[in-house]
Amino acid sequence: MSEQLETVSGPIPGEQSCELLARLSVRESQNVTAVSADFPVVWESASGAIVSDVDGNEYIDLTSAFGVAAVGHSNPYVASAIADQAVRLIHGMGDVHPTEVRIELLERLAGIAPKELNRTYLATTGSEAVEVALKSAMLATGKSAFASFRNGYHGLSFGALRVTGIEKLRAPFAAALGESTLFLEYPRAGHDGRSDADSALERLRNALAARDDLAALILEPIQGRGGVIVPPAGYLRGVREICSERGIVMILDEIWTGFGRTGSMFACELEGVVPDILCIGKAMGGGVPIAATMGRESIMNAWPLSSGEALHTSTFLGNPIGCAAALATIGEIERNELPARAKQLGVTLVARLGNLQRHKSVVDVRGRGLMWGIELTDAHAAERAVKSALQLGVILLQAGAEGNVLSITPPLTIGERQLYRAIDILDRALAQR
Ligand code: PMP
Repeated sequence: MSEQLETVSGPIPGEQSCELLARLSVRESQNVTAVSADFPVVWESASGAIVSDVDGNEYIDLTSAFGVAAVGHSNPYVASAIADQAVRLIHGMGDVHPTEVRIELLERLAGIAPKELNRTYLATTGSEAVEVALKSAMLATGKSAFASFRNGYHGLSFGALRVTGIEKLRAPFAAALGESTLFLEYPRAGHDGRSDADSALERLRNALAARDDLAALILEPIQGRGGVIVPPAGYLRGVREICSERGIVMILDEIWTGFGRTGSMFACELEGVVPDILCIGKAMGGGVPIAATMGRESIMNAWPLSSGEALHTSTFLGNPIGCAAALATIGEIERNELPARAKQLGVTLVARLGNLQRHKSVVDVRGRGLMWGIELTDAHAAERAVKSALQLGVILLQAGAEGNVLSITPPLTIGERQLYRAIDILDRALAQR
């Protein structure tokens, strides 16, 4: 496979981008796209780890566009599965008349997830998958409050926002969110010495003991948008034990970490943890919006048997294009052994990313597999690095509750030459003042 690298020329954004951005700025809701003189560019097409803009510049994508393009942008197998499905059936009839492709996907998911998670709801976005998880926990426990972690990200729709722990995203809507969510501290590996997990679990145990109204605890195995925060080894296993002891439903949000990103199909496998409910999305459809809530039968069967009017459904439930894309994506992940590849590339990345610590602006480097965070001194430094990298031909994303982290989540198919070239460019971007 030939490995294409970046080719950028002229001012960025180029003329075509500028023209389109001017049109966008007068029509799109003003909260969506931050347009400035040097950011962003308008995407035209993408293939593998390379994104092309409307001016013909080509960038190496270190984001896989929010972790979605794990099997590469416009993966040909996924594209052809979509095309085949599109000529047969684009839209089905959600909770009324099912399709074969949906049944196949439900069976396929059951085959790759921990076997205990044998009942699945197909959602369209990650936020919806989270909301279904929360509703499932309510039905199963008869309780209505939730525990979550500060700086955890579970989506921005109202139900999901109840458990999203990033204060600035909640503040304008706080009056409608209620105050029942218990927000906990998410521990960081390597910050409290060797007893990291034990002391963090002790704090968790105490915090949960003060509440008897909790239906569920939701967490990410590695906080993504919160700044790629990795908890101490053993923490997830301890959370599992505490939830079981207290009869609290454990919801694991693997919307970002799932489908091979951290070196195994799901991050929970590393510690042999099986949650009560698993939320997945992002990479699942290879770029087509589809997500899922997978749960133990003992929890999911708290939903009443449908008598023709589902308590929770949506127009696009089990959309055939999404199902076909997801089947092809899972096929690609398995065929190319992408979890193992992410694991192996993660090992080789440690030294290269660690080398970035010589820059004064770099405070910490952490991650696993192909999910890394580079913490900088402040959000300004991160914004400068993202913009400089773009000028040099690399797409990066700012993360962290304060915006001071660069998150690196490339396609799991990225070529080694592409990956190391992009890290070299990042190195140069960090050197720029
Ligand atoms: N959970 C996690 C861990 C996420 O990273 C995201 C999206 N960044 C969501 C939930 C929400 O997913 P969506 O944007 O598809 O609603």
